Amino acid sequence: MPKIEVDEKRCKGCELCMVACPHQVISLSKNFSPTGYHPACMVKPEACTGCMLCAFVCPDVAIEVCK
Ligand code: SF4
Ligand code: SF4
Repeated sequence: MPKIEVDEKRCKGCELCMVACPHQVISLSKNFSPTGYHPACMVKPEACTGCMLCAFVCPDVAIEVCK
């Protein structure tokens, strides 16, 4: 099953990946990242298709898609 891994040191919580995901897989964590942001996380992992749209739109190259 495909999944994403978010590099919390890079993520700035901009929500672009949330908007880009066609299946509402991503939301922002309630926890803080090491750099003080709410990082992106998977909230509906079963819906991820591995399409990589989230990774393409992330301006901080924080998302890796694992297939
Ligand atoms: S790979 Fe596609 S389906 Fe999976 S979280 Fe990213 S945008 Fe959503
Ligand atoms: S697009 Fe990148 S920086 Fe923005 S919330 Fe998503 S993972 Fe974080």
